[in-house]
Amino acid sequence: MRLVVLNYLFLSALLIISFGSIGRAENALAMKEPLKQGGYYVGKVSPGDKVTFHGETVKQSSDGYFVIGLGWQYKNVANIRVDHKAGGHTMHHLDVLPHDYEVEEITGLPPKFVAPPKEVQDRITKDAMDVRRVRALDTDLQNFKEQMIWPVNGRISGRFGSHRILNGEPRSPHTGLDIAPGAGAIIVAPLGGRVTLVSDQYFTGNTMVIDHGHGISSVYAHMEKALVKEGQMVAQGDEIGVVGMTGRATGPHLHWGMNWYGERLNAGVVLGIE
Ligand SMILES: [Zn+2]
Repeated sequence: MRLVVLNYLFLSALLIISFGSIGRAENALAMKEPLKQGGYYVGKVSPGDKVTFHGETVKQSSDGYFVIGLGWQYKNVANIRVDHKAGGHTMHHLDVLPHDYEVEEITGLPPKFVAPPKEVQDRITKDAMDVRRVRALDTDLQNFKEQMIWPVNGRISGRFGSHRILNGEPRSPHTGLDIAPGAGAIIVAPLGGRVTLVSDQYFTGNTMVIDHGHGISSVYAHMEKALVKEGQMVAQGDEIGVVGMTGRATGPHLHWGMNWYGERLNAGVVLGIE
């Protein structure tokens, strides 16, 4: 009869909060409040209980673990419903803090990357479909429960969610965190999982996607090269790639994205940087 939401960043500082509206000790919730836009949160219920988030059943492990992701523009309150195996249900209303996104201007990009020539449109469409397909995977892996580590250490050269202006033209927001440790730096897996895509893409250059289970996946772009192959299992901390500047990049950096199925997440929130 318990719902436990664990923000893995703050595991050492868990707060136990009773829900006044429920008022029963067995419905206590352990979490670091508040939740933030762009974050993902691991929870646990009694095996057999059913978790619903925005009207959809959330995938659960046999021992009751689940994860929910909050999109980068998620508003106000996350409502989680738990239907108990023994009957009855509880509602959990969790406040979600907004994130201040920046405006970022990038100039000096080769024009072919700002307005791609017609002949590369098919390739761009296929690139996007390949990434969409692997982000939609819904596997039983449970690496999402690990406490995330940085894939590489370096200067943050681009923030998640920034509204981008490329060569003076407004574009969609930045979907990852850019880290610039210098060309040739080794990228390690921030969470374990299975490599689901290694491909050379028009915009993102040498690109990799790793599945961490239950819809959580990560993307690595502009790599000089990948050090692992599609289908391979990797453990947290394993070497997976080399920082480069392939695709649409003005300098060597790692573009690192996190997803919960189709939702873009902000790795910075998970790691506690603003
Ligand atoms: Zn980027």
